[in-house]
Amino acid sequence: MDNILIDSKPIMTSLDFETVQNVAILGATGTIGIQTLDVMSQHPKRFNVFALTANNNVKSMFALCQQHTPKYAVMLQVQAAKELDAQLKAASISTIVLHGEQALVEIAAHAEVDTVMAAIVGAAGLLPAMAAARSGKRILLANKETLVMAGNLFMRAVEEGGATLLPIDSEHNAIFQVMPNQRAKSLEKMGIKRVLLTASGGPFRNASLDDMRVVTREQALNHPNWVMGPKITIDSATMMNKGLEVIEAHWLFNASADQIDVVVHPQSVIHSMVEYNDGSVLAQLGNPDMRTPIAYGLGFPNRLESGVSSLDLVKIGRLDFLPPDFERFPCLRLAYDALKVGGTAPAILNAVNEIAVEAFLADRIGFMDIPSVIESVMATSVIEEVVSIEQLTKVDTEARQAAKLWLQNHV
Ligand code: NDP
Repeated sequence: MDNILIDSKPIMTSLDFETVQNVAILGATGTIGIQTLDVMSQHPKRFNVFALTANNNVKSMFALCQQHTPKYAVMLQVQAAKELDAQLKAASISTIVLHGEQALVEIAAHAEVDTVMAAIVGAAGLLPAMAAARSGKRILLANKETLVMAGNLFMRAVEEGGATLLPIDSEHNAIFQVMPNQRAKSLEKMGIKRVLLTASGGPFRNASLDDMRVVTREQALNHPNWVMGPKITIDSATMMNKGLEVIEAHWLFNASADQIDVVVHPQSVIHSMVEYNDGSVLAQLGNPDMRTPIAYGLGFPNRLESGVSSLDLVKIGRLDFLPPDFERFPCLRLAYDALKVGGTAPAILNAVNEIAVEAFLADRIGFMDIPSVIESVMATSVIEEVVSIEQLTKVDTEARQAAKLWLQNHV
């Protein structure tokens, strides 16, 4: 399989910084969306906010439209779009408001868009990201669920559509930064033995299994190092986030499960590493602030000012490393298992996880019910080879139904 981020051709020759890039931010009201706008605002001559999208957060979207006056604003929910439209008209802001899934897809593929920041949370990000890939955009991919669900289809679309794919997840961005400039089609050809994803370990890094059974939503949302949306924050607490990242790394870097290791690194200063055949380990370091990978993606192959403060290693003093605990964090093991099984298994893992996290955030289930429901549904699901987005949509829907049923019967 020869999917690779940017192949061996020179990257970004088409991006000329003399011209302003039109950027569409999918998931603009989220933490990644807001930080993307922050970085872009530092470089107004280079970037134009062409389109912003959200689900239903009218208040935040209105504020963003006031500040950035995009040509388009897309809300998934029709009622939210109507309210936004009325508010913008009342404020004499000329942004065109669209709504619905199809509009998200059309904006991602819009002829005037150069760059798409794919930062919708969850499976909902898949179709717009696919559209951006097929239409050859420069894609800044934060939505890891796209690769988890449909890695083979997405990487093929990137290649066939002539898109440029830049990973924004800090770990994959770090790995990307320490790989050779001219990327070969496999780790072996680049002389790479393995990639090492670092993990903070989340808020329950030192908690006992008994304590983890009774943790609250608020405790789980209290991430020690990163400020993120609620879904990924819970994923970090269960370490499913790292599991999803293992699958993401598989597709991005053409790495097998046994070429991807996880190391717990509580300070989140090293964002990930690559080990070469000669024993060299190259790492990317920085303060834990997503504006660094976002600026990297926006500016690539140049470096842009991001607003992130300098790393003060003396103040940090020490960097610690620990092995991951697969017993207290079964979600990480389940993700490795899904990757090894392949086919639709990662899409099922992702769908059940989304339902479980939603239920945990609504205080309907306990923290350790999250891996239980995933394990049970995975064990009883039929795994198929991935052939189409339509098939994945069906698999996703069925897995969600199975998860809901399991939770009804067991919790
Ligand atoms: P947030 O929850 O903060 O934001 C999610 C965004 O997606 C919001 O704009 C939201 O709109 C929109 N959205 C939610 N549901 C839908 C839907 N069904 N259709 C269309 N839009 C929708 O998430 P994050 O910014 O934290 O994360 C975004 C993605 O980036 C995730 O895939 C995450 O895993 C990934 N990521 C995030 C990192 C981080 O530091 N936050 C780090 C690395 C990766 P609304 O506000 O209206 O609900």
